[in-house]
Amino acid sequence: MNGVLIGRVRGIEIRVSWSVAIIGWLIAWSLASEVLPQMAEGRSDRAYWIAGIVATVGFFAALVAHELGHSLVAQSQGVGVKSITLWMLGGVARLERPAADPSAAMRIAVAGPAVSIVCGLVGLALAIPGGGLSGAVLMWFGSINLLLAGFNLLPAFPLDGGRVYQAWLWRGGLSQDDATAKAARLGGGVGQAMVWVGIVEIFFSGLLAGVWLMAIGWFVREASAAEAQGVRRESMLRSFTALDVMTPDPESVPGSRSIEWFVDDLVSSGRHAAYPVVDGTGRVIGLVEIKSVRSSPRATWSTTSVQAVMTPLEDVPVVAPNATVDQLARAMEERSATRALVMDGDVVVGIVSPSDVVRLTIAVQLAQGTEPV
Ligand SMILES: [Zn+2]
Repeated sequence: MNGVLIGRVRGIEIRVSWSVAIIGWLIAWSLASEVLPQMAEGRSDRAYWIAGIVATVGFFAALVAHELGHSLVAQSQGVGVKSITLWMLGGVARLERPAADPSAAMRIAVAGPAVSIVCGLVGLALAIPGGGLSGAVLMWFGSINLLLAGFNLLPAFPLDGGRVYQAWLWRGGLSQDDATAKAARLGGGVGQAMVWVGIVEIFFSGLLAGVWLMAIGWFVREASAAEAQGVRRESMLRSFTALDVMTPDPESVPGSRSIEWFVDDLVSSGRHAAYPVVDGTGRVIGLVEIKSVRSSPRATWSTTSVQAVMTPLEDVPVVAPNATVDQLARAMEERSATRALVMDGDVVVGIVSPSDVVRLTIAVQLAQGTEPV
């Protein structure tokens, strides 16, 4: 969903996904062949198509304006914005982080629909004296923007209305995490309801409208679930430290030993899959894993040292024992590593492996009474 870069506004990348071409063609086609001929009769096909394309481009421009509304207000509240992407189901503004307080969150959420309402009212106001085909285009543009604002204000997180609801709960005294979880639960329910209404709509008012609503409902439901899960995971990750998850006091491997010895004596005995590597003075210089050995041909194992194949310390994620698990996760992510060393000064006190993280996740989920996922 990265899309093609079409421009920048105040440092925010504006991107358009290829799926917009399909949906844009569908909208222009339904305008040119059905909607506009009904609203303003007796024009040529060519005129309807030109008007349909103009209206469609205007519609997408208004979608970008909606997202810019969120984004510029976010910037004014001190929240950076990475990009705005238009895709099949609308626009998405990617903020660098959530708002710091509920009032800022509320302003950011409301700004998008406010822009749509303004576009809608301006379209309708200009349409009234206009009449004719251009009047029909403005009328459609005005109505679709008001419809968009109304739809976005449904209390279905992550739609804007759901974000307003989240900010409102947060301002009312719930913690940010609890407010998000609650708004996400309601969002999941509304998303599911949209799916059902979409199914009914297929039978009563046509395949396209029904399938579109189903798709949006499904997207809302999944996005709500992902958001709720993200909140649970993050609050869990903040409440544990590296000390809680690590395997303590790992055995070290001298860097000068051969990888043949490493494989035969240590790995084959099935104890661990990764070890800190030390030099002659006992100082930690890296981390060796079974997979580090794979790149060396078997015939060279007796003459290649562990030090030659290890990951050097500067490329290993290292955290202090009191680092929280989300700091640990970030350190591992930055280096695309699956293991980390926990060091107290120069001394390795523990090693964190993927199974340690999985064990913690399951333990916490069982403790919270939620299903492990
Ligand atoms: Zn919005």
